[in-house]
Amino acid sequence: MYDFLIVGAGFAGCTLAERLAAGLNKKVLLVDKRNHIGGNAYDYYNKDGILVHQYGPHIFHTNIKRVWNYLSLFTDWHYYQHRVLSHVDGLKVPFPINLDTVNMLFGQQISVFDLIDYFNKVVHDAGVKEIKNARDMAVSRVGNELYNKFFKNYTKKQWALLSEELAPEVTARIPLRINRDPRYFVDPYQGVPRYGYTWMFQRMVADPNIHLLLNADYKKILNEVKFDRMIYTGPIDYFFDYIHGRLPYRSLDFEFQTLHVEQFQEVGTINYPNDYDFTRITEFKHLTGQKHPWTTIIYEYPVEGGEPFYPIPKAENKELFNKYKSEAQKLKSIYFVGRLAEYCYYNMDLVIERALEVFDEIIKEKI
Ligand SMILES: Cc1cc2nc3c(=O)[nH]c(=O)nc-3n(C[C@H](O)[C@H](O)[C@H](O)COP(=O)(O)OP(=O)(O)OC[C@H]3O[C@@H](n4cnc5c(N)ncnc54)[C@H](O)[C@@H]3O)c2cc1C
Repeated sequence: MYDFLIVGAGFAGCTLAERLAAGLNKKVLLVDKRNHIGGNAYDYYNKDGILVHQYGPHIFHTNIKRVWNYLSLFTDWHYYQHRVLSHVDGLKVPFPINLDTVNMLFGQQISVFDLIDYFNKVVHDAGVKEIKNARDMAVSRVGNELYNKFFKNYTKKQWALLSEELAPEVTARIPLRINRDPRYFVDPYQGVPRYGYTWMFQRMVADPNIHLLLNADYKKILNEVKFDRMIYTGPIDYFFDYIHGRLPYRSLDFEFQTLHVEQFQEVGTINYPNDYDFTRITEFKHLTGQKHPWTTIIYEYPVEGGEPFYPIPKAENKELFNKYKSEAQKLKSIYFVGRLAEYCYYNMDLVIERALEVFDEIIKEKI
């Protein structure tokens, strides 16, 4: 008999399992259909002894002190700050776009003040009156020329849709730097767990009140276990047997290569918006700080089908999700938490914050 059945051992599931078990002394059964904990943040040492992220590169960054402090209970940090270059016009230029990006691309030496004037002019020239889609949003921030060089083709590759077909939110968060800051994120807390994500997750679920069951789809064990309440972090449409249809996702194929050189590229990630079928190449050793005579890189190819990675941001998909959300709201004693259950692209920190909020709600219920 368990107090909680938790479906999914990613950030949402592990955070709630840890809090309920260690914080409230609840008995928890934590189930995942995969053969490992950690969800999409799972990492492991490959056969060449290099630490890699199985589901694509994960860099932790947050401005939420509560979340940083919480994870710091289980890990030390490698204080990594991510750097990205974008391969445009045959040059590798800093991304997000900053003063150096514009100077390198246009072969000039303008100042920060000139850069502000430049953006004011190109945004005015773009003449967007009403923001209806992701293209309008992008050109209203960077103008047509930079949109064409950095965003137009990347978006098409990533989503197999034109920017005109995607919701404005896709490009709403394009970071722009009116300075020379070359970092990809500017959050005050950034890094990767010093010994890897999986090592950290193992410590989160080590409490004896947590029983872990891997390689198990929760639907297959429902008749065999007794529990009071459920926390569900899997796909919401699967929970309801797809009664309203499937929620669409964009997925990725990953190609890993280990090269017999110490370093392959100058920064963690290089984006290829306009060339090749992959969107980006990441070299793990930049992220993890690992010392090794060889290096492993990962190519990301966006695909249809496969693992559900990115909810597709279109109005009709949101409507479909809302139908499932209404079903979920009718159920007492079941909490839907995380990126699959809420059909929402969450960064890791926001998933943890959300899980901690759900924990706060459970405490208030005093059951
Ligand atoms: C390529 C890529 C790169 C990313 N990079 C970053 C990054 O750099 N920084 C960042 O902050 N965020 C990043 N993210 C986002 C990050 O992966 C998510 O925020 C995080 O994994 C969400 O945690 P979760 O627990 O909600 O979901 P998940 O990690 O997906 O965990 C859900 C778990 O539920 C399990 N499950 C599903 N169905 C069932 C079932 N029927 N029975 C049992 N178990 C089930 C799944 O196997 C999975 O393990 C990235 C995402 C992707 C796709």
